[in-house]
Amino acid sequence: MKLIVYDRSRVGILRQSDVVDVSDLVGASEEWPPTFFLRMIRGFDRLRPILDEAVRTRPGLALDRVHLGAPVVFPSKIIAAPANYRKHIDEAVRQPEAFKRAGPSIETYGVFLKAPSSIIGPGDSIGLPFADRRTDHEVELGVVIGRTARDIPRTEALRYVFGYTGLIDVSVRGEEERTTRKSFDTFTPVGPVLVTADEIPDPGDVRLQLWVNGVQRQDGNTRDMIWNVARLIEYASHVMTLHPGDLIATGTPEGVGPLSPGDDVTIEVEKVGRMTLRVAPRREIC
Ligand code: MN
Repeated sequence: MKLIVYDRSRVGILRQSDVVDVSDLVGASEEWPPTFFLRMIRGFDRLRPILDEAVRTRPGLALDRVHLGAPVVFPSKIIAAPANYRKHIDEAVRQPEAFKRAGPSIETYGVFLKAPSSIIGPGDSIGLPFADRRTDHEVELGVVIGRTARDIPRTEALRYVFGYTGLIDVSVRGEEERTTRKSFDTFTPVGPVLVTADEIPDPGDVRLQLWVNGVQRQDGNTRDMIWNVARLIEYASHVMTLHPGDLIATGTPEGVGPLSPGDDVTIEVEKVGRMTLRVAPRREIC
């Protein structure tokens, strides 16, 4: 099942090329904080047959008539994996002026946090805060947690996954902590859909691609991750309790490069789909 969020706070299910509105069934609301999405995920086992019935019986809306938002709403945290692909570490080592501290892998660094307020959707724009600092794209598989998880062994870890999405971990290069460099508003585009875990039985074989202005920059596969999804959940849940709706950015393969105002950046995550975002100076969009 492919879930979308659209027109601010509607929830839909993608059906071929149309969208079935299930906002009423999942308790979607304009209220702040938008915790309905987290309650939907926590109660999804009960909701699923009701949603399946809606997909069979309800009329659809044309997908091109809706404004897509991020299909991950109000996570308590975004956990992110640094240096989780060997060839990406190698390319960073080759550019010491841009990457500064590159060299060790996730096995040295552990994980870091990104601000949930940096999330945007497929219909939004990436805002560059600095005209004179290199700001890179990183295409990644996003993992959304489905159940409260604490101290979960890797052998059990995939049972705690609700689903998968695509994301870009936008990153200013420099000396600040990763949390600072990767938490600017608009620095976590997520989407275009949230695919339930049953549609991706093996998250260790997912192709990740990225283009800038139609020119391919990244083409990797999650099989090359140093820590796979199960190991990331094992490690993260040993540090902090994972809640339904939490998002894990699993790291990027090689090919990262700078974004410039006016660029169009496209990602395609296998079994999740493709989305294109515009890049602009931050003052033009925030
Ligand atoms: Mn990253």
